[in-house]
Amino acid sequence: MDLTILNNITYGMYVISTKDKNNNVGCIINTVTQITSENPIIAISLNKDNYTHKVLKETKKCCISILSEKANKELIGRFGYFSSKDIDKFKETIYEEINNMPVVKEGSCAYIIGDVIDIINVKTHDIFLIRVKKIEQLTNDIPMTYKYYHEILKGKSPEKAPTYIREEDNTLKQEGNKYKCIICGYIYDDDKEEIKFEDLPDDWKCPLCGVGKDQFIKL
Ligand code: FE
Repeated sequence: MDLTILNNITYGMYVISTKDKNNNVGCIINTVTQITSENPIIAISLNKDNYTHKVLKETKKCCISILSEKANKELIGRFGYFSSKDIDKFKETIYEEINNMPVVKEGSCAYIIGDVIDIINVKTHDIFLIRVKKIEQLTNDIPMTYKYYHEILKGKSPEKAPTYIREEDNTLKQEGNKYKCIICGYIYDDDKEEIKFEDLPDDWKCPLCGVGKDQFIKL
């Protein structure tokens, strides 16, 4: 079965956020769907290994920020490739506490706050059904699709994403100097860049997930 055919299904880019006793938590998801129109219900899918999943199961309340095409890669990297268990993703993020939820406003064109009314177990993931309590438009920017993230921002699906498809790493078979980010898989190709990887300044960061040069391995 050619699973890449499933790439024809369209998705958006969202930050799902909630909070435990002490910390704001959140992550990037691309699986958000409106299920009913009146008294609307939204469905989202989250990997069970995900820290945000664990917290959402307890709080049963969350915010979904709809990212626009203006959202930068650092924001997506911060929320997409790290765990809220390890870092405070909100420290460097523009957000506002609304209805006791940390609402990510940076790069977002709208947000939805709601309560979890049901959880459907689908093996590796849970589907959360969320009753919408509050919605607000923030900007008129175009909502970012997953296709835009993938093709324009050159983003990749983290392994925990429902839409993750394992790709064979062909880069190993190619010649030339290439360096791979061990966090997000971004490839720095000396042949395609003006500056060689070795000559990049020490404070250079992975353009996709924001980690330093020390997180890259030479292929
Ligand atoms: Fe990276």
